[in-house]
Amino acid sequence: MIEEFRKNAHQLVDWIADYYKNIESYPVKSMVQPGDIFNQLPTLPPEDGEDFQTIFQDFESTLMKGVTHWQHPSFFAYFNANTSFPSILGEFLTAALGAQCMSWETSPSATELEEMVCIWLKKACGLPDKWEGVIQDSGSSSNLCGILAAREKYAVFQTNLQGLGHDRLTVYCSEQTHSSIDKAVRIAGIGSDNLRKIPVDNNFAMIPAKLSGAIHNDRNNGYHPLCVIGTIGTTGSNAVDPMEEIGKICTQERIWLHIDAAHAGTAAFLPEKRKYFKGIEYADSYTFNPHKWMFTNFDCSLLYVKNRDDLTKTFSITPEYLKTEVDKQVKNYRDWGIPLGRRFRALKLWFVIRSYGMKELRNKLREHTSLTTYLLKLLENNGSFRIQAPVPFNLLCFQYVPDGVIEEEKINTINKTLLSELNRTGKVYLTHTILEKKFVIRACIGQTYVKKQHVDQLYHLIVDTCQKINIH
Ligand SMILES: *Cc1c(COP(=O)(O)O)cnc(C)c1O
Repeated sequence: MIEEFRKNAHQLVDWIADYYKNIESYPVKSMVQPGDIFNQLPTLPPEDGEDFQTIFQDFESTLMKGVTHWQHPSFFAYFNANTSFPSILGEFLTAALGAQCMSWETSPSATELEEMVCIWLKKACGLPDKWEGVIQDSGSSSNLCGILAAREKYAVFQTNLQGLGHDRLTVYCSEQTHSSIDKAVRIAGIGSDNLRKIPVDNNFAMIPAKLSGAIHNDRNNGYHPLCVIGTIGTTGSNAVDPMEEIGKICTQERIWLHIDAAHAGTAAFLPEKRKYFKGIEYADSYTFNPHKWMFTNFDCSLLYVKNRDDLTKTFSITPEYLKTEVDKQVKNYRDWGIPLGRRFRALKLWFVIRSYGMKELRNKLREHTSLTTYLLKLLENNGSFRIQAPVPFNLLCFQYVPDGVIEEEKINTINKTLLSELNRTGKVYLTHTILEKKFVIRACIGQTYVKKQHVDQLYHLIVDTCQKINIH
């Protein structure tokens, strides 16, 4: 059995290497229609085991058609969910060890490596020294953990015991906040009616005066302001909320501050980008996802807290069967989040950080941000495009505005057509958002192996496609 595994694994590694060699020959976005894959699958599981070759052939012939190639260098959609060769190798080992990393004792290396990579990244990002970190599965979970800890601290850790009290709690975020915040307030029992979406300025950043106004208004009406969510790098346009001013308001009002830097957090590696992180020291909790722009495959989200007790008193639960002799001397990360079972996620992060080194990681981020500026200049110089939001990191929001077209609704329709035509080519994949009622195309330049040639190709494809849709 072991020898068979050895043989199959070698074959798989060869396949993976070839996949990356030829990745640009695949359409970036899968071209299948809903049901295409499902309808090709047997409706019952096999009674007798099948061999690797048979399964693998089906993977290649059936499933690969329904895969969108997130690691294609011309993937410009959403935010990237990157991997890299070191990350793949680390993840392979995690699967091989199959360790449950819920307590220190269930794999001491997992806990202690997790502690150390959290310290490494805290220093690399210039986060406050006293913060302590933990790896969660996703940014959504990190955001939920932040809000739950805020809720428990507010209730002096009584909600866990007694259920939700009668205080009407309110949470504040900007209109541009990520949907995971909406979800988190629902799950936390706060309710979306009590989530206040604070208006944004021309740069799509939260307006602090509107925040304090909303807080005062709520207090006057008998609500209890609980928590503010600030974002560094919103999903729509990469806007940066003014954390220093928001932080001061939170301190004054004694409200928990959670900062969501899911995508842009990695940019804190760069001294020249630190200006966007001013004021983060006010945060009670802070999150960013190495699985987005740090070449570490999903899932891997870091959550830092100012005071670890806030988190562990929220989540710790120790039935008899989980007690160990060393509980007083160690971190048991099951007490730092929602699930009991935990994957050995620190391993791939350790592989990535050590293989690249901080210098090369910074180089890659700089390459991506300068390619973004490069595309920005190309579009600006062309004259037929409008850049719709500031570009602090590696996301560009633009609209095609053909000569003489002024009606916004018409421009929106043209851009919708442009986007779907671009994606239909299979050569690139981009997505959109709505900013001030405008349908804008988003191009995020952050794939691990993206180069200037891919951005040139994207630009020419955009220009060609614009011409094509103009003729019809
Ligand atoms: C992507 C993103 C999230 C959600 O992260 P997941 O890991 O996909 O759950 C949250 N906030 C922001 C700003 C994001 O960009």
